[in-house]
Amino acid sequence: MPSVKFLRTSNLVKSFGSKDVLKGVDLALSEGGTTAIVGPSGSGKTTLLRLIAGFENPDSGTIELNNRMVAGDAWIPAHKREIGYVAQDGALFPHLSVAQNVAFGLGPAWKIAGRKANARRVAELLDMVSLESDMGERRPHEISGGQQQRVALARALARKPKLMLLDEPFSALDAGLRVATRKAVADVLHAAEITTILVTHDQGEALSFADQVAVMRGGTLAQTGTPFAVYTRPADLDTAEFLGDAV
Ligand code: ADP
Repeated sequence: MPSVKFLRTSNLVKSFGSKDVLKGVDLALSEGGTTAIVGPSGSGKTTLLRLIAGFENPDSGTIELNNRMVAGDAWIPAHKREIGYVAQDGALFPHLSVAQNVAFGLGPAWKIAGRKANARRVAELLDMVSLESDMGERRPHEISGGQQQRVALARALARKPKLMLLDEPFSALDAGLRVATRKAVADVLHAAEITTILVTHDQGEALSFADQVAVMRGGTLAQTGTPFAVYTRPADLDTAEFLGDAV
C-alpha cells in the first residue's frame, strides 16, 4: 500500500502570461514534518506556497491535503484549507493593535464568541509565542521586527491550522534576532505538532529548521531528502553549486 501523505502535489503547473513558473512539481510531505523549500530567487518557491495556500489556482495538476483534493479536480478555498500563512514582512495591519491583529486571525468565530472569550484566546495565543499580554495594546510599529513576526505567527495560529506555510518570515530580521525568532517559531510549531513548510533562500536556515529539504530550480524540484542527504549528496552539479554558495 502506498504511504499516505499529508500533503501531495502532483504535476503542478503554473504560468503567468508567457512565463512558465512551475513546470510540474511533485511534492509529498508526511504529517508533523518540517520541510524547507530552498532554491534561487525566481525558481517558483513562493508560487508553489501560494498554490498550496489556495491564493492561486494551478493551470494543471492536483493538490491533496489531509485526504482531501483541494485544487485540480476540486477546489477548496483558502479559508477552508486549515492553513496558516506567515509572509516575509508579517503583513500586520498597521492601524490595528497587536491584540486586534491576532483577533483578526480568529475569523468569523471572533464575532460569535463574547468579548471576554476573545480576549482570553488572544492572550493565550500571545503567550504561545512568548509575548506578554500587555503588548496587545501596542501598534505594530511600536514593537520590534522579531516581535512583529511572532504576532504574525500568533495570528496564523488562531484558527488552529493543520499546515503552516512560512514564506521567508525571518529574512527581514537582523542576524541575531533572526536566529532567536527562528528558534522561537520552530519551538511553537513543534509543540503544537503542526506540519510546516518554510520557504527560504538561506540554506543554513533550512538545515537548522527542517527535517526535509526540497531544492527548487527553474520551476521544478531538483531534489528532496533529509538535510544531510541533500547537502552531502546533491543530485547534480547545479544543486551542488547552489548549496555550495551557503558555505
Ligand atoms: P521565488 O519565490 O523562488 O523567488 P516566485 O514564485 O516568487 O519565485 O516567482 C517565480 C517567477 O514568477 C518570477 O519570475 C516572478 O516574477 C514570477 N511571478 C510570480 N508571481 C507572479 C504574478 N502574479 N504575475 C506575474 N509573474 C509572477
